[in-house]
Amino acid sequence: VNDVVNEVLPIIEQRFEDKHLTFDKAVDDHIQLTADKEKVKQIIINLVDNAVNYTPEKGNIYLRITECNDSVCIEVEDTGIGIEKEALPRIFERFYRVDKARSRNTGGTGLGLAIVKHIVEVHDGTIEIESEVNKGTKITVSLPINNDMQK
Ligand code: ATP
Ligand code: MG
Repeated sequence: VNDVVNEVLPIIEQRFEDKHLTFDKAVDDHIQLTADKEKVKQIIINLVDNAVNYTPEKGNIYLRITECNDSVCIEVEDTGIGIEKEALPRIFERFYRVDKARSRNTGGTGLGLAIVKHIVEVHDGTIEIESEVNKGTKITVSLPINNDMQK
């Protein structure tokens, strides 16, 4: 897991500086996960990409990776615009974007979370989202540590 984080950081770090966002991470040492490495990287990139896009300048983004009940929990939290309750059930649909995001012209296509959800399902994991408008969003992905991916 540490390797994965070290490989994605250079990809995402530049974006924090551009937007004057603070970024903190807490990654447990020595977590071993049986999974498709590139796909786990994609999960982190897509979630952090959203955190950056939907958080105004000078906000905070937090990445926490811990071992939790025979799983790895990947948590990405931001202090951004949040998502209204009515939109939450649709957020993982392909091409779905909340109006606010559209009008903000962030240029996304609405695929990032659909891809994350797909990767999580292939790994028999779960994904949870907590969000409050104008406060922020926290997405927690949980992936079983020993996954045979036989499907
Ligand atoms: P893409 O990821 O394909 O570039 P996108 O970011 O619009 O485009 P998703 O990542 O699937 O697509 O997210 C869907 C929608 O969910 C976003 O358009 C945005 O409205 C909302 N959203 C996702 N993450 C956040 C977040 N951290 N804070 C606020 N809104 C979010
Ligand atoms: Mg996105």
